[in-house]
Amino acid sequence: MKILVINCGSSSIKYSLLDMEREETLAQGLIEKIGEEYSIFRQKASGREIEKITRIENHEHGLRLILDSLKNPSIGVIRDQSEISAVGHRVVHGGSDFVGSTIIDDEVIETIRKYSPLAPLHNPPNLAGITVLRSLLPRIPHVAVFDTAFHQTMPEVAYLYPIPYEYYEKYGIRRYGFHGTSHRYVSQRAAEILGRSPKELRIITCHLGNGCSITAVDRGRSVDTSMGFTPLEGVPMGTRSGDIDPSIVQFIAEVENLTLKEVYEILNKRSGLLGVSGVSNDVREIKKAADSGDHRAEIALEILAYRVKKYIGAYAAVMGGVDVVVFTAGIGENAHYVRSKICEGLEFLGITLDEDRNRDPAKWNGVISAEGSRVKVLVVPTREDLIIAKETLEAIERAGAS
Ligand code: AMP
Repeated sequence: MKILVINCGSSSIKYSLLDMEREETLAQGLIEKIGEEYSIFRQKASGREIEKITRIENHEHGLRLILDSLKNPSIGVIRDQSEISAVGHRVVHGGSDFVGSTIIDDEVIETIRKYSPLAPLHNPPNLAGITVLRSLLPRIPHVAVFDTAFHQTMPEVAYLYPIPYEYYEKYGIRRYGFHGTSHRYVSQRAAEILGRSPKELRIITCHLGNGCSITAVDRGRSVDTSMGFTPLEGVPMGTRSGDIDPSIVQFIAEVENLTLKEVYEILNKRSGLLGVSGVSNDVREIKKAADSGDHRAEIALEILAYRVKKYIGAYAAVMGGVDVVVFTAGIGENAHYVRSKICEGLEFLGITLDEDRNRDPAKWNGVISAEGSRVKVLVVPTREDLIIAKETLEAIERAGAS
């Protein structure tokens, strides 16, 4: 069975075609700069990589191109699109209506639309992808896999903000949390690697990529997570500030004579690692600058590590202890120096890294904590495409059984 996984952003589309029997990615690609003068189309399939620079007008154009290239006799991996059995769509915001993945029908589409104001950068392009692909591939099931669903187990005490209760009732202002598919997968995978059941472990998962979030997974259930009402809350990210005093928003608006929208643009796109370092949003570039003596680059990495460390402490308190810490995503999987800084000084919690292991996690099946460390620390590569495909399959099986 082959499942197509689609992740539509505002000007990009990421996709993978997976063979579910072998859990293998047959093709993987990315379209960027949709709607601009030159768009970029890249695909990796059957050991070959192609890159085309061409104008791609909109999501429909991009998705047609993807289907064509998947069945292209020279660069494709299928003979006909009827070989695709289902499509799994990543949807960022499912609010409190979805506790799991679901087969998409008109009602589901309306609910996703309802949450668009809460994720204006994500839900509208997610919906565009759903609408186009449902019309191009009408005979197969389409499944929505929500970033928010895994966090629906959070208790009230974690998801309610201490603001007037009526705003929760009237507008649904509460913590939702994101990266749920990744937190769920890496927590389960870490337990599997350790030969334990997730039901007996208190796990803190650190998804550190372009977006960063930390989750407390208490015996298999998300009980708190650092991203909130939107993906702006929590630890600092590539360009997002994470937690700040809300009064700063009004202050900047007044002293810089900006609108609220402009200030939020700054907090979303010009803050975080980029804002502090002034170098880049990419940890590789920042590390290079820090190594050559750039203080702002150095402090940007320090702030990231310091704030992740604070969340680890907080979530250990929330769960009454911690058994496992997991690092994943671009920074979490690759930047050993960030992992070191985060874990430094956490020996009192039972966390001790083995620096040799930390530099080469793959050699140690991902386990980077020292032999005697009470808390196990792991690097688990997140495979969002595989998780979305698996959830798609599960949703179809559930629907068939009901
Ligand atoms: P993701 O959103 O998971 O794709 O993560 C992207 C981010 O991971 C990039 O912006 C970089 O900051 C970081 N990253 C990716 N590869 C590396 C690497 N080899 N070393 C350090 N950071 C990396």
